[in-house]
This record gives sequence, C-alpha cells and structure tokens, in this order.
Amino acid sequence: MKDCIFCRIIKGEIPKQFDFESDVLVVFPDINPSADIHLLIVPKQHIEAIESIEKEHARLLFEVYQTVSSLVAKNNLKDNFYRVVVNGGKAQHVPHLHFHLLGGQWKKMV
Ligand code: 5GP
Ligand code: ZN
Repeated sequence: MKDCIFCRIIKGEIPKQFDFESDVLVVFPDINPSADIHLLIVPKQHIEAIESIEKEHARLLFEVYQTVSSLVAKNNLKDNFYRVVVNGGKAQHVPHLHFHLLGGQWKKMV
C-alpha cells in the first residue's frame, strides 16, 4: 500500500530499528509511547483492520501471539502488568492491522 506509513516502514522507506523481524511481521517501538514498554507488532502484509482478517491469516495470528509471548519473556512482563491492544473503527489511527504490547506503568490510553 503506497501511502501507508507502516508499509513504508516495513519496506525500509522510513529508517527504523526493528526489535524483531520474521518473514511475516516486524516489531518496533511506538513513536508516542503510552506505557513504559510500548511495542507495535505489525504484520508485513497490508491487512487493514480486524474486519479484514480471513481464515488464511490464522497462521499469521498464531505467530503474532507467539511473538508477543517471547516479547513478554524478554521484557520480564510476566510478573508485571501487560496488555495487548488492537484498536478498530474510529479508535484506529493507522489503517494497517497492528498489535500494541503495553507493559509496566500506563501513561495514557492507546
Ligand atoms: P492506532 O491508533 O492505529 O491503534 O495506533 C497507531 C500507533 O502508531 C500510535 O500509537 C502511534 O503513536 C503509532 N505511530 C504512528 N506513526 C508512527 C511512526 O511513524 N512510527 C512509529 N514508531 N509509531 C507510529
Ligand atoms: Zn500498510
């Protein structure tokens, strides 16, 4: 998707250090963090929103949550507070499906 900010980041058009990258997703910190730890888990495929998820994305969603699980371990969040948030509708500002991992102290709503 040409004008999608996350597609541009994934393609390397906007330089960004990834915390993790696999064949199907990338992880990078949110530019405007809402918690001590605020990572975005972003599928490489341009899926617009929750309503665009199809059966063929099942494996991808499994990998998203596997990645969340390893990020929870890496950041010692298991014994702390953490949440995974997916915004939709008018609460979603970037129209490319992504998962917020928020950990530690919250600063504000995502
Ligand atoms: P949404 O409201 O769509 O769920 O969340 C979009 C998130 O992407 C926001 O938390 C916002 O701070 C973050 N964001 C928007 N543009 C960029 C960017 O260019 N780089 C990074 N790292 N995060 C971004
Ligand atoms: Zn996109």
